[in-house]
Amino acid sequence: MIKKTIVLFRNDLRVDDHPALWHAANTGTILPLYIQHDQTHEQNSAQDYWTYYSLQNLQSTFSNYDVPLILRKGDVISQVLQLALDTQANAVYFNERFSQTERAEDERLANILQANDIEVKAFYGDTLFDVTSIRNQQNKPYAIFTSFYKRCLQEQARKPLGRPANMRAFPINVSSLTLDQLQLLNGNWYSKFRNYWRPGMDGALDQWELFIKGGLYDYKDKRDDLTKETISKMSPFIALGNISIRFLWASCQELIEVEADPAFAQQIESFLRQLIWREFSIYQLLSYPSFTTLSLRSNFQHFEWEPNSLYLHAWKKGQTGYPLVDAGMRELWETGYMHNRVRMVVASFLVKHLLQPWQEGYDWFEHTLLDFNAANNAMGWQWVSGTGIDSAPYFRIFNPSLQGEKFDIDGIYIKKWVPELANLPSKYIHAPQTAPTAILEQANIILGDTYPLPIVDHKTARARALERYNAIKKA
Ligand SMILES: Cc1cc2nc3c(=O)[nH]c(=O)nc-3n(C[C@H](O)[C@H](O)[C@H](O)COP(=O)(O)OP(=O)(O)OC[C@H]3O[C@@H](n4cnc5c(N)ncnc54)[C@H](O)[C@@H]3O)c2cc1C
Repeated sequence: MIKKTIVLFRNDLRVDDHPALWHAANTGTILPLYIQHDQTHEQNSAQDYWTYYSLQNLQSTFSNYDVPLILRKGDVISQVLQLALDTQANAVYFNERFSQTERAEDERLANILQANDIEVKAFYGDTLFDVTSIRNQQNKPYAIFTSFYKRCLQEQARKPLGRPANMRAFPINVSSLTLDQLQLLNGNWYSKFRNYWRPGMDGALDQWELFIKGGLYDYKDKRDDLTKETISKMSPFIALGNISIRFLWASCQELIEVEADPAFAQQIESFLRQLIWREFSIYQLLSYPSFTTLSLRSNFQHFEWEPNSLYLHAWKKGQTGYPLVDAGMRELWETGYMHNRVRMVVASFLVKHLLQPWQEGYDWFEHTLLDFNAANNAMGWQWVSGTGIDSAPYFRIFNPSLQGEKFDIDGIYIKKWVPELANLPSKYIHAPQTAPTAILEQANIILGDTYPLPIVDHKTARARALERYNAIKKA
């Protein structure tokens, strides 16, 4: 009898180097399944847009093999069990996930399926290394990135598996919802994303080609320059698994070998280091299950934040009067993406200048980022806030104007996203309030009207943040 395996797809919407699919397809017939959780938020998130088009791309790829992708909605455990019983499936395969709730759900699913004599297998599909087995000499999780990084480099990254040679569907018809019935595109603010992105496996490969023929050559030297396209912009594809991290790693290693150019190799190694930052975030999520909600440094649990809905609103809408912060927040709203340097600046501004809890920023990013990923997002926020295990110290407070002068010298990035400042000479672009009245008039800017005055004064806000920090340091 031919084996029948249901392959559960989650944030791994691809067919290449998908271990669960690969093993299932190589041992019998498959039924690829995607289940949309019942909506827990009132509004759809930006990432739902990516999910929709990734599924569309996946569906069309499977159809080339006459394999239907089954779409369902609702409670995952009951849906999978019912489908397995209805189709008399022998097995359910999926790739591992890393957050506490996801792991708990997968465990419950495995228990119920096994109780019904259905084989269950979980595979590592999302990491380069087996992060569960990496421990320091005291058999504890590494707390410092550099040590973790060096340790990873002693291991061989897993090799990508490629696409299964054969894919054969279950020999029976199974009903499916349509993609639109998943109701992923209910919101209205992200229809603009299609101007900037092509989600899915095909788009991922194109974006990767573009990067390795262009930005990668200057990645190490120019990745913080906001006016250059030296970063990969692979993050949304990686977040929903349109492309495998092991494929990216292997492809870089091949480039190092083929090009045999030590200068280029350095640029590539700098990129690979970022991929290991991603591993480190997953590692932390596994090691500290409350990573996404609680400050890892426990003294920060006593930090005196000042929740303020007006400040939070101004930050979300890019109306703080700090041009680099506003540019970043508007880029995020318009495109679902923000450059890493600007993420650090806007996050620092929210947490330190405005004294808002980092969790507020985490939630907004979850809602608006196409590349939202719980582990990376938590690490980013905890790093900037100084609350993480290996993070920037709290007292290092970015000056948003100086950050702009450094990484967007002529204000090109700012002028793109804050068009009301487009006519302001570069000299004043990072602090419009310092421009003489005549210059502001010439640039058609009325501060407090066409563009906000700074919502807080940098020096005062900095001093206040340090005061709060000193209070918990003593505690
Ligand atoms: C406050 C804050 C929140 C963040 N939230 C997210 C998030 O939800 N999802 C997300 O993918 N990244 C997040 N990051 C990390 C980083 O900003 C993005 O991964 C990066 O900007 C994505 O752009 P890219 O693909 O062009 O990056 P590249 O520079 O081209 O890097 C390639 C890949 O390496 C990984 N990577 C790069 N930088 C980091 C980093 N600092 N930490 C972990 N992995 C990294 C990502 O997978 C990225 O796609 C956050 C950073 C901060 C400061």
